[in-house]
Amino acid sequence: MERSTIVRVHEGLHARPATRFVKLAKSFESEVDIVKDGKAVSAKSSVKLMLLGVKEGQEVTVRANGADAIEAVEALIGYLENPRAGLEEDDAAKADGADAVALQPAPPLSQAASDSGLVGIAASEGVHLGPAFAHFPPEIRSDGRALAAHEIEPELAKFQAAIAAVRTRMDKALADETLAGGDRGIVAALRDIAGDETLVGDTVAMIREGADAVAATIAVSSRLAEEFGAVEDPYLNARADDMQAVGRQICLALLGQDDVSLEQIPQGAVLIADDIGAWDLARAPLKRIGAVVCGHGGATSHIAIIARSHGIPAVLGLGERVAELRSAKVVAVNGNSGAIIADPDADARADYERRMSDARAERDALTMFRDTVPTLANGTVIEVAANLGSLEEIDAAKEAGAMGVGLFRTELLFMRHMHLPSEDMQAETYSALAKAFAPYPVIVRTLDIGGDKPIAGIEFPEEENPFLGWRGIRMCLDRPDIFKQQLRALLRAAVHGNVKVMLPMVSDLDEVRRTRVLIEECKVELKQQGTAFGEFALGVMIETPAAVLIAPALAREVAFFSIGTNDLTQYVMAADRLNPTVVKLNDVANPAVMAAIEMTAKAGVEAGIMVGMCGEAAGRPDLIPAFLRMGLTELSMSPASVPRAKKVVVELGKAG
Ligand code: PEP
Ligand code: MG
Repeated sequence: MERSTIVRVHEGLHARPATRFVKLAKSFESEVDIVKDGKAVSAKSSVKLMLLGVKEGQEVTVRANGADAIEAVEALIGYLENPRAGLEEDDAAKADGADAVALQPAPPLSQAASDSGLVGIAASEGVHLGPAFAHFPPEIRSDGRALAAHEIEPELAKFQAAIAAVRTRMDKALADETLAGGDRGIVAALRDIAGDETLVGDTVAMIREGADAVAATIAVSSRLAEEFGAVEDPYLNARADDMQAVGRQICLALLGQDDVSLEQIPQGAVLIADDIGAWDLARAPLKRIGAVVCGHGGATSHIAIIARSHGIPAVLGLGERVAELRSAKVVAVNGNSGAIIADPDADARADYERRMSDARAERDALTMFRDTVPTLANGTVIEVAANLGSLEEIDAAKEAGAMGVGLFRTELLFMRHMHLPSEDMQAETYSALAKAFAPYPVIVRTLDIGGDKPIAGIEFPEEENPFLGWRGIRMCLDRPDIFKQQLRALLRAAVHGNVKVMLPMVSDLDEVRRTRVLIEECKVELKQQGTAFGEFALGVMIETPAAVLIAPALAREVAFFSIGTNDLTQYVMAADRLNPTVVKLNDVANPAVMAAIEMTAKAGVEAGIMVGMCGEAAGRPDLIPAFLRMGLTELSMSPASVPRAKKVVVELGKAG
């Protein structure tokens, strides 16, 4: 029994839809394959399914063989044609945290010289000096012995028991209430891999042919890791590490060994390793780890994600040179520059200790501004808000004293599962954000994505110059199917009364007008559906020179401006914000950029609309006085900068 169809799953069969598809396939007894371009894989293996790379709009065939083949084909074809019908939300939502953290903007990758010349990728910011804790677990090897016929069944039983043990251990970790949301998602993903039909099935097949279980596990997990590593998709590439990590856990269970434990790590130690499995790090005593240094890994690896979400400075990707640190007693780590010093001399130690204590003292001193409402001498309240990319950052922002959200970067939500989020999921997210900060406003930015940061579900053309290309509002207006889904979700969240919406990369008045037409269409649709919605104030980001030059006209059409200095600086100065060779020109304090900010502020103030800033410059103590003089009344920044900015405003207010 087989049937073909065109895939209507917006995001293609990536991560979560793949999991759902597999869950559905497994509910039937029949053997089920999915065929694309002549290649057939089991529909019951999410590993195989992800590697097949089924995208929206492609033709696939579902083929089943067994007692319930007809029902299986019908159900699976039904899912591919209408993925939202009849499926309850699975508990994957609980695991969302991992990817959310994954998508927090990575700190800029920088390489800097250090005294020892040891430099890696600055993957999680902060500086730390602490005792070295070298973690180099021995490589697992198999003697590759061929099994005799009578040994095969017991070996298979041993392998199944090892899988069960690994999954039980992971289930236990998941049941632990103290496991952070992000880490939970990572462990949940590893648990799924440990039971995957392909990993297990291929290993069983090798054992049946006489390979011992350890050799078979190493061979299969390494082969799958290689396959994931070869795919042109950063999300799938990262799964290669997961394959290796799970393979290692199964081997250890087979050998009756426990991995070298991180339990013994001393307080404030620098964890040094060639590679650390996400599984190991997630269950390590993270509060005791002062910094992480690794031979493997990059800014988007799971180690970086966990380090950033726990505020642990990390330098990764040192390569083989990490071995030079094996004998170090004390290590200094600069997570901002990527520099590492092994056994620093007295001067370097003193320097690091001073920097650590300065950071601590500043953090402590600034806590007194948490509940302050910074006000200028003339009574104007300056809203010091936070830039967020996920709901997981709400607590830190509130803790820092953020007065609302001046920029919610929704692209991170779009990227979290490498597929497009549904309208319902978006509405829930924006509502949760609004509720968390009420009565303060939350400004949600509509999808700001381009060819430099592709997401699954949207095909981006190859562009010579993605920063000058099809991105932000330009892309959204060309894809009303995606844009309207977001606008409807925002209208639904607007019932809370404090949601504002802003458009990125605006360079033409028409972009605002066309958006308004779409918003009106969305309202009609929601009304027809009987779905409750509210009104939101619509603003624009000022981040192109064109927007600055037409600011007076724009100000008549929108409710507020938010100056995006990160992009505005690169476009005014024609200096790529990611290119270290032009870093001197990429300076917001350059008179040209400051003039552009002033022109924008003047246009906004004259039109009587709010002018705010959400670029990084909003948190710069040296520039805040100038911005306030220009008439800005809202400054939005990373949560960590909020207390310092509040202090600056308060002091200015006192000085009159
Ligand atoms: C900006 O460009 O200043 C901005 C806030 O947006 P992003 O950094 O997300 O491009
Ligand atoms: Mg920008």
